[in-house]
Amino acid sequence: MLKENLRGVEEKINAACKRSGRSREDVTLIAVSKTKPVETLQQAYDMGVRVFGENKVQELVDKYEALPKDIHWHMIGHLQRNKVKYIIDKVDLIHSVDSLRLAETIDKEAKKHNLTANILIEVNVAGEDSKFGVRPEELEPLINEISHFSNIQVLGLMTIAPFVENAEENRTVFARLRKLSVDIASKNIDNVNMGLISMGMTNDYEVAIEEGATIIRVGTGIFGQRDYTHV
Ligand SMILES: *Cc1c(COP(=O)(O)O)cnc(C)c1O
Repeated sequence: MLKENLRGVEEKINAACKRSGRSREDVTLIAVSKTKPVETLQQAYDMGVRVFGENKVQELVDKYEALPKDIHWHMIGHLQRNKVKYIIDKVDLIHSVDSLRLAETIDKEAKKHNLTANILIEVNVAGEDSKFGVRPEELEPLINEISHFSNIQVLGLMTIAPFVENAEENRTVFARLRKLSVDIASKNIDNVNMGLISMGMTNDYEVAIEEGATIIRVGTGIFGQRDYTHV
């Protein structure tokens, strides 16, 4: 099943890239493996998957320890400040920075490890109450402040679009995130790069690619439904 799923997702990514005149290399697929056992991740790894996304710190650390070291790990879930220290030296990219205090902690922990933390700013584009992320009008002030930290590099933006029946309904959300990214890029802020746009999940990643996503986060479409009854 995993093999067919991966092939199917790959075909859809290729088709969406073609439709929008984009190159396949410009879109990174993150296999979102939350709740899935290490054995399943190992199977995906054996099929060539090297980029995994997790949303819980403990789970990410456990899987990091158990799996090959050439995997690229992405933290895509809400991050508590007191847990930054556990992942700071294990992840390629933190997608979910949405406050100055969290950025401060990331900067501090990055300094301890003598590394530069790569982050995205999570934007609550649709203004849903249930979602983390900064409101669009808070974005530029936050990025301006974060740009002063010595051990953080802002690489772009991330959003979690609403759950919708028809992916087309999220097209405006994706277009708005992309526009915010272009607006911020035009300000040429030191230490701030807007090259990455993380948007699109199983139900809507094709639309997200058409609207400029450079990173898509696909879980169910690769690994099947998640089972939360044992966790
Ligand atoms: C779970 C999750 C995903 C993947 O969701 P699917 O609908 O299973 O593809 C993507 N992004 C974030 C932030 C998630 O928490």
